[in-house]
Amino acid sequence: MLSKLGRDDEAERMNRCCEKFGIVTCGRHIVARYPTYRCENRLCPFCAERRSKRLIAKYLPIVLAYAKVFKANHSEGLPCHLVLTLAHRKGETPKMMRKRLWDNFVELRKTDLFKSLFDGGLFTIETKKSKDGVGSHVHLHGLIFRFRKLTKEELQMLKDEWFAITGDSWNIRLDPIFDIRKGLTEVCKYVVKQGLSESMTLSEVRGLVELKGLKMCETFGHKTFRKFAIEFDPDEHEATEPVERFDFVEGDACPKCGETLRMKYPMPVNELIKFAREIEAWTIPKPNRLME
Ligand SMILES: [Zn+2]
Ligand SMILES: [Zn+2]
Repeated sequence: MLSKLGRDDEAERMNRCCEKFGIVTCGRHIVARYPTYRCENRLCPFCAERRSKRLIAKYLPIVLAYAKVFKANHSEGLPCHLVLTLAHRKGETPKMMRKRLWDNFVELRKTDLFKSLFDGGLFTIETKKSKDGVGSHVHLHGLIFRFRKLTKEELQMLKDEWFAITGDSWNIRLDPIFDIRKGLTEVCKYVVKQGLSESMTLSEVRGLVELKGLKMCETFGHKTFRKFAIEFDPDEHEATEPVERFDFVEGDACPKCGETLRMKYPMPVNELIKFAREIEAWTIPKPNRLME
């Protein structure tokens, strides 16, 4: 696909991405695996998945710590999953839609109504193929702290504000988040939903390539959440959840059996799967391609 756009080098690198792995194993358990090569292209589905996991790893301790502080000050407060959408306009590229959505959300945050209902949070921009197959849809997913439950009237007023700003969409969803890890995963996974695939048309690929280098995730609430996230020091906050460890290296003890871990590489995906099936237990590699 990329080579059709004259981007042969990128296409070649993406093809080689995550073909082979080094695994860290005691011989009975696999505790980590690292691809021997990564293309780091934003349109690569493998690298995109890793990017979303990094976002989650970065923000999870921050959101958990902030939720505690927030709850202490707002007894009815709760994080929510906010979804904002735009209607697709003829001729509008994903890049144009992203900008419109981003700017419109800035406008919405400036309204008195919004300020009276919400604190801060973080958001991601998702692009996906529209249902009718024409062009891409661009959505905004936010993890947003609301002060209290909205009344029906307030939700309607919020939708009316959104329509007044966008000129074409009333579409707002707001769902409470009870499990922060799951909620954050939901919000962050969208940032990468659309990678390149063989079924895309050339103009769809062109549209996605145009998004390269643009920010698709941002925090907001410059006196609240954003400030907290920027100044966050993990040492000042008790870890509220155990942090899973994925960074085992050769010489460490296997967390399952205590045996010394060794590195095995490079293993192509099919060999890795075969090996994993032969040994006692394997938790990290999934049966199909990859992850990290
Ligand atoms: Zn890649
Ligand atoms: Zn072991």
